Amino acid sequence: MRKIGLIGGMSFESTAVYYRLINEMVRERLGGFASADLLLHSVNFAEIVDMQKAGRWDLAAEHLARSARGLNAAGAECVLICTNTMHLVAPEVQAAVDVPLIHVIDETARALISKGLNRPLLLATRYTMEHGFYTERMKMLGIDVMVPDANDRTDIHNIIFNELCAGTVLETSRTLAIAMIEKAKAEGADSIILGCTEICLLLLDPSGLPLPGVDSTAIHATAAVDFALGPSMANQAAA
Ligand code: GLU
Repeated sequence: MRKIGLIGGMSFESTAVYYRLINEMVRERLGGFASADLLLHSVNFAEIVDMQKAGRWDLAAEHLARSARGLNAAGAECVLICTNTMHLVAPEVQAAVDVPLIHVIDETARALISKGLNRPLLLATRYTMEHGFYTERMKMLGIDVMVPDANDRTDIHNIIFNELCAGTVLETSRTLAIAMIEKAKAEGADSIILGCTEICLLLLDPSGLPLPGVDSTAIHATAAVDFALGPSMANQAAA
């Protein structure tokens, strides 16, 4: 089994989901007491949030690149940044290590394509919805991403930071998110990207939404397990 390196803590609420999902999938595929061989560097999210607010993506890139180097030096054979937003600095993080960075946008695009979906609504932080790194990369992969209107972008961003990253899940916010999805459906969206790693906490069952949902957290965690086990070990478990 290959060693997974996670850069987490952004927020720890979603990193806990990654940790559980990765271990559950390894146990499911290998059986018995099997669990993932992984390293986690959980950063102080307050420092990252300050850099985001100040627009200091250069400092955030250095911070996460240092973390990736540490994981690499400690034996990680791949690196995951456990947040969509911080993929804004994914090129710098990848450049810092000589192991693959498992990229959440690429994995999410692959999941959409495998389901024949190409006009998703993106629910994410303001940075992910507005900075272009996400929608442009998706476009290169053939996916035409829709984003909510300005008011809805503010609402979903605030729900993520003020509630979900603080461990609070409110029914009123769930209702608001469902209304955004209904609106996008009427405007031609064919699916919904849970494009922030905490949104799965709000929309627990992506299959129970008005449009098919793809959950970036589950997709990213699955990609890590596929990498760690490789086709041979996954097949051996399935046999
Ligand atoms: N976890 C979130 C994401 O997937 C937001 C927290 C952050 O700003 O990194 O985008």
